[in-house]
Amino acid sequence: MQKGTLYTVSAPSGAGKTSLVKALVDSDSQVTVSVSHTTRAQRPGEENGINYHFVDREAFLAMLDRNAFLEHAQVFDNFYGTSRDWVAETLDSGRDVILEIDWQGAAQVRRLMPDTVGIFILPPSQEALRERLTGRGQDEASVIERRMEQAIDEMSHYVEADYVVINDDFQVALSELKSIVVAQRQRLDRQQQRHGKLLQALLQHD
Ligand code: 5GP
Repeated sequence: MQKGTLYTVSAPSGAGKTSLVKALVDSDSQVTVSVSHTTRAQRPGEENGINYHFVDREAFLAMLDRNAFLEHAQVFDNFYGTSRDWVAETLDSGRDVILEIDWQGAAQVRRLMPDTVGIFILPPSQEALRERLTGRGQDEASVIERRMEQAIDEMSHYVEADYVVINDDFQVALSELKSIVVAQRQRLDRQQQRHGKLLQALLQHD
């Protein structure tokens, strides 16, 4: 069984990362997204076990203690982590895994697993990002400014990725994201693993 490919997808909040990843996963049964553990409070509309595994600080630190996380980070005031076992088992089953994680997590994963493919999603402009952050609703101006600063900080790490997708038009960005996954499957090393017999047979003389 050929192992799946591990992807990290990072973006500033408001760039549309979650919607893009969801659409990608819905369109390709070989691709799955990891559900992180977090200590942050559940937002309206979020489901435990679907969007995140919501845990308290104590439970998170206990998991950290037993080395249950492939990577973890503190983002804003909360902890986030990716389950080491789930990722390993899913990749072993041949499926591709997407980690929707911040730049700090992506850097940790890249160090541990250098074959990881890093994707960064960016908004088409700062104005568009500000609009999307404001459009989320109830937040005050100062909260939005803080989020903008954090977004700029996150975006400054785009250079660490292998691929960059600008999310101006959702459908265009989605097709670009899909094309990265498809291209990755045609890489020489992957094709040699998948089609070893064929490639040997093609080079045989009578
Ligand atoms: P939010 O709380 O808005 O869902 O996510 C805040 C940030 O935490 C986002 O940049 C998101 O990608 C990141 N994040 C979510 N889960 C993980 C994780 O398991 N590890 C790391 N390093 N970052 C995560």
